Amino acid sequence: MQILEEVLSRLPDKSKISDSSFEGANIVLYTKDADFFINSNWIIKEIVNSIKKRVELRPDPSICMEMEKAKKIIEDLIPKEAGHNETLFDPQRSIVIIHAEKPGLAIGKQGDILREIKKRTLWIPIIQRIPAIRSKIIENIRYVLFENNDYRKKFLHKVGKRIYGETKKNGQQDWIRISFLGASRQVGRSCFLLQTSESNVLLDCGINVAAQGQDQYPILDAPEFNLEKLDAVIISHPHLDHVGFVPWLFKMGYKGPVYCTAPTRDVGALLCLDAIGVSQKELNKVIYGAKDVKEMVKHTITLEYEEVTDVTPDIRITFYNAGHTIGSAVTHIHIGNGAHNLVYAADYKFLRTQLLEPAVNRFPRAETLITESTYGAKEDILPARKLCEDELAKIIKDTTSNGGKVLIPVLGVGRSQEIMLILEKAIREGVLEKIPIFVQGMVWDVTAIHTAYPDFLNKSVRASIFHRDHNPFLSDIFMRIASRKEQDQVIEETGPCVILATSGMLTGGSSVEYFRRLADNPKNTILFVNYVGEGSLARRVQNGEKEVQVPGENGMETVKVNLNVRTIAGLSGHAGRNELIRYVATCEPRPKKVIVVHGENSKCLELASYLHKANRVETNAPKNLETIRLR
Ligand code: ZN
Repeated sequence: MQILEEVLSRLPDKSKISDSSFEGANIVLYTKDADFFINSNWIIKEIVNSIKKRVELRPDPSICMEMEKAKKIIEDLIPKEAGHNETLFDPQRSIVIIHAEKPGLAIGKQGDILREIKKRTLWIPIIQRIPAIRSKIIENIRYVLFENNDYRKKFLHKVGKRIYGETKKNGQQDWIRISFLGASRQVGRSCFLLQTSESNVLLDCGINVAAQGQDQYPILDAPEFNLEKLDAVIISHPHLDHVGFVPWLFKMGYKGPVYCTAPTRDVGALLCLDAIGVSQKELNKVIYGAKDVKEMVKHTITLEYEEVTDVTPDIRITFYNAGHTIGSAVTHIHIGNGAHNLVYAADYKFLRTQLLEPAVNRFPRAETLITESTYGAKEDILPARKLCEDELAKIIKDTTSNGGKVLIPVLGVGRSQEIMLILEKAIREGVLEKIPIFVQGMVWDVTAIHTAYPDFLNKSVRASIFHRDHNPFLSDIFMRIASRKEQDQVIEETGPCVILATSGMLTGGSSVEYFRRLADNPKNTILFVNYVGEGSLARRVQNGEKEVQVPGENGMETVKVNLNVRTIAGLSGHAGRNELIRYVATCEPRPKKVIVVHGENSKCLELASYLHKANRVETNAPKNLETIRLR
């Protein structure tokens, strides 16, 4: 490969390079010279600066210290307080993975402990945080990746060869187009195909949980889409309407990369596995299995925010915080050496919440912006956050002091953790009396993932965890409900309480069961805090239907809706109308074209028309199956 040869030609003779390969867009060199490995930082830095690609130097496996000895040295170097419990060696890549409860202490001041490990053992140490709440999914994912080291090495090299290899285009004309295969003039099944004369990349690939039949899935039989030519899949965040169809691609034989942040990978895998369970229970057609989710994990390349990476010869992406769920991303896409810059702002929140920082809207360049419009209509102005938080406390107070239970159906990731933080604060500050908050198993498992990635949370939660040693998610007001028996106890024996359960739209999962058994009692309250899709049971309840059909133990049952039905839209993880407008108006640089998606028909149209008038930019609200040429 040309780029590898170029890197090698810049190294001194004494470097004794034994191997060079790709790990995705990164270039990895192995040296047999211990001195060169330890003392060549500046040479590597110089190369990185001149070729503008990431280059990493590792020791050749033959010079790494014997594993047992290295393990002993690592154990001696890492202080007890770091809570270090496991050391795993990846001998093919000369990497040692060190698990610790407090990574900062294991890394040392300015990384001095890591440097010492490197120098004394000739292994590359990588520290991984042990989540404060045990997470089986994270353990499984780390195990799957570790177990498939061999495969990963080959896979990542193959990805690099595609990025740096020969281009396909043979002097064709340059063009860029995007086809809308879902979530256009609708919410659900987000899926957009970005094509150039060189590349085919999918932006999200989700399902519409509120729809039936084929309408649940993105329109992948569109003439533009060809699975065999697909180069990469980019996932904005792990809600099922953005990630839920990705395992199906693997079932159909896709073997390419999926790009997202680490929290999105972990939560996404968990939600996809949960979706399989739910569809099995309801005898829906199960569209993929656990092994397809595992394939997705094996092929995922995680990126940090603001880490620039090539994904094909002419497409380079960077993730920025989107403020919607932990690890959610606004994706900046640099196409054809800067010929065009596309920003894909999937679901985002443009305000600071208890959980996350607001979405980023400053980019190096931006010609086209794709924005969501879930709350895009004139009437969708969300009330101030503080008022909503107070209202939440009041609804809970009124219901529980009257002896009732509050059921909050949630999506599992995003609102559930936001609500946990609001309630923890309200109880800690005495605004609310201490009441039990039952967190259904799946929501709990997602919360555990939050404790593995505190760096992605908002400043004050981070400060609380790192400087005051107070992790709000570990509060004793939260109780996990894992079994059917515990669920029965909460419904039948426990007094006033709050229940957080999936799914958010009552389309399956334990929230439906809670609703079925709590709906009859006028003392109880059902509280909706997230968007509920057209056609879902939640939407019908929200619209005030007094009798609904709900799946029970023996088929469908008629349920009388006597409980209070409340909605607090302002706690949504989506930007309200004003935030959407402000996000576009203050976006830097100002895009020339704005494409509005991810909203019901009238909301897409209204927002597009407003943005056109207000910002004097070209706007568009495409329908599914439309294609827009960007260049
Ligand atoms: Zn979302």
